[in-house]
Amino acid sequence: MTLRIGVIGTGMIGEEHSRRITQTLSGAAIIAVSDVNHEQASAMVSRLNLDAKVYESGEQLIASDDVDAVLVTSWGQTHEEYVLAAIKAGKYVFCEKPLATTAEGCQRIMEAEITAGRRLVQVGFMRRYDQGYNLLKNSIDDESLGDALMIHAAHRNPTVPERYITPMAIHDTLIHELDTFRWLLDDEYASAQVIFSKKSRHAHSQVRDPQMVLLETTRGIRIDVEVFVNCQYGYDIQCTVVGEEGIAHLPEPQSLTVLKAGTRGNEILQDWKNRFNNAFDIELQGFIQDATDNTLKGPSSWDGYAAAVAGDACVKAQESGQIESIDMPTRPDFYR
Ligand code: NAP
Repeated sequence: MTLRIGVIGTGMIGEEHSRRITQTLSGAAIIAVSDVNHEQASAMVSRLNLDAKVYESGEQLIASDDVDAVLVTSWGQTHEEYVLAAIKAGKYVFCEKPLATTAEGCQRIMEAEITAGRRLVQVGFMRRYDQGYNLLKNSIDDESLGDALMIHAAHRNPTVPERYITPMAIHDTLIHELDTFRWLLDDEYASAQVIFSKKSRHAHSQVRDPQMVLLETTRGIRIDVEVFVNCQYGYDIQCTVVGEEGIAHLPEPQSLTVLKAGTRGNEILQDWKNRFNNAFDIELQGFIQDATDNTLKGPSSWDGYAAAVAGDACVKAQESGQIESIDMPTRPDFYR
């Protein structure tokens, strides 16, 4: 059986995922697309040589009997309405992060999914499928480092566009770490604090950059994350787990070491696409298989919600300069 997928939002990652589904993965076809910018949607259909209909709106695409499952890759602010519409139509939906831009929005999605009575939503937290992060998780789960005590991490992008504002460092950027750490540690957050350093002269006027996010988990594990979205030199993701008897570093992406003209060097990746290429493949192939088998297993609406609760506390901490407590509600039985 071929899973017939409709894509809402044909920007950077919408095209990347459509290309991946069409040219690399198996078991699915892109048969419908939609974007507020219709020309952009049509142009993507031509570029990828898709046999896909361009719909006037995301709602029409979701309602179409031809569409089995929906991929939401539009702007973050629009995710909630499309995910809710897909749940209402009883269709599987893969939603890029964030699931919704507030915890309340994620809560509405969970309530709709619980009312529907079965898991229909997967959230695009692809680091859970990255080989390096899985090695790190194994080293925590098998206790080879002793108990985990601290994590030191960094999320660095070369530059961000003018429309990127300070809270986006949390909702758009740190959201990946917020999901990854709770998955790595199998723990929830208890508090958050945000400290701003001297501002980089490369950061535009609407963003305070860099910043340091300090998190504490319910078991007392301390996490520091540098978020630096105008670091200039590359896309650089760091994560080191400090345990009672040893430390483990997230592996660097593989690259050739070149010795030339008196220097020894390795290429530094410039964008997220290449850094997590394999993880995106595994993530989406899993969604296609699970939707076909009627059993979604990837990151759930609860995971999207938990990251959003922590994210909201971090944004509050950006504004207050104080340590903000994080009160994570009990996970509903539906998501156990
Ligand atoms: P993008 O290039 O700006 O693409 C978003 C597309 O959605 C644009 O074509 C935009 O059209 C369209 N759009 C806006 N409002 C819409 C609406 N109401 N209905 C349908 N389409 C609409 O952004 P992107 O980088 O692809 O990011 C899209 C989402 O993916 C974001 O939530 C982002 O956080 C996430 N993302 C995740 C990762 C990851 O690592 N997992 C990486 C990149 C992005 P216009 O431009 O014409 O307004």
